[in-house]
Amino acid sequence: MAKGTKAMVRMYYKVEDGKIIRLKRKCPKCDSYMAEHKDRFHCGKCGYTEFKK
Ligand SMILES: [Zn+2]
Repeated sequence: MAKGTKAMVRMYYKVEDGKIIRLKRKCPKCDSYMAEHKDRFHCGKCGYTEFKK
């Protein structure tokens, strides 16, 4: 039970260059979670990038 919750939470995070990146926004192109960077969201699957306004 707790294991499943942990696995789900892990899906929303990704480690890139030693930094933890939040994966919250969904990609409009391929519907996978996008990594949140300081000024943009980036989809690792199709390469779609959305800049924050
Ligand atoms: Zn995508």
